[in-house]
Amino acid sequence: MLKGSCLCGGIQYEIDGEMGDVVHCHCPTCRKTHATAFSSVSSVPLDALHIKAGEELLKYFESSPGKKRYFCGNCGSHIYAKRKDQNHYVFRMGTLDDSPNLKQAHHIWLSEKAAWYDIDEACQIPRFASWAE
Ligand SMILES: [Zn+2]
Repeated sequence: MLKGSCLCGGIQYEIDGEMGDVVHCHCPTCRKTHATAFSSVSSVPLDALHIKAGEELLKYFESSPGKKRYFCGNCGSHIYAKRKDQNHYVFRMGTLDDSPNLKQAHHIWLSEKAAWYDIDEACQIPRFASWAE
């Protein structure tokens, strides 16, 4: 059982089921949606995600026909996306409060990645446990 929440804490959820490997998506839609270089997602079976609080806060934006991206209408945290007829959620890893032991599967849509993100250089630039020194 994993727990997670949106930034404002209005939405609280639990995941009770097997999650897929983590995928990092660099497509422009994900970059815009999350205002980041890429989004990190996993699959969660439809019957494994339980919204425990704040279901009324969940809003969605249909980014392409049949694909709805669900987020907190108060703070804007994206929680999951759902395609019509898909048997799982495209779950957004960043709102988890617990740490699942998942593998990273791959990066996708690198042909569309942000010019300011170099995937090779990203592992080589200086790293800090907190703020840069
Ligand atoms: Zn929120």
